[in-house]
Amino acid sequence: MTDITGFNHITYELTRTMNCTEAQALMSAAVDGELTLKEQQIFEKHILECEPCRLEFNEAKKTKSIIREKIVRFKAPQSLVNTILKLSSSPQ
Ligand SMILES: [Zn+2]
Repeated sequence: MTDITGFNHITYELTRTMNCTEAQALMSAAVDGELTLKEQQIFEKHILECEPCRLEFNEAKKTKSIIREKIVRFKAPQSLVNTILKLSSSPQ
């Protein structure tokens, strides 16, 4: 076994920046590939370690076309996504 103590600490710091609620909020954008690189990295870290979110993300990808029809009708989720993207977009 390698020394995973340091690695665990780094992983913890990264996952700590996103909880399940935030992962859920970004999920539709993640399915559409609309996350920033940083968001995507943190999101992927979360779903790798959080099985419920990972399963839900897989389901969301499967049902993307169905969900998309509803988003087009109501448009509220898209404005939420835009707000999240604006808040989290930072200059490199
Ligand atoms: Zn989660």
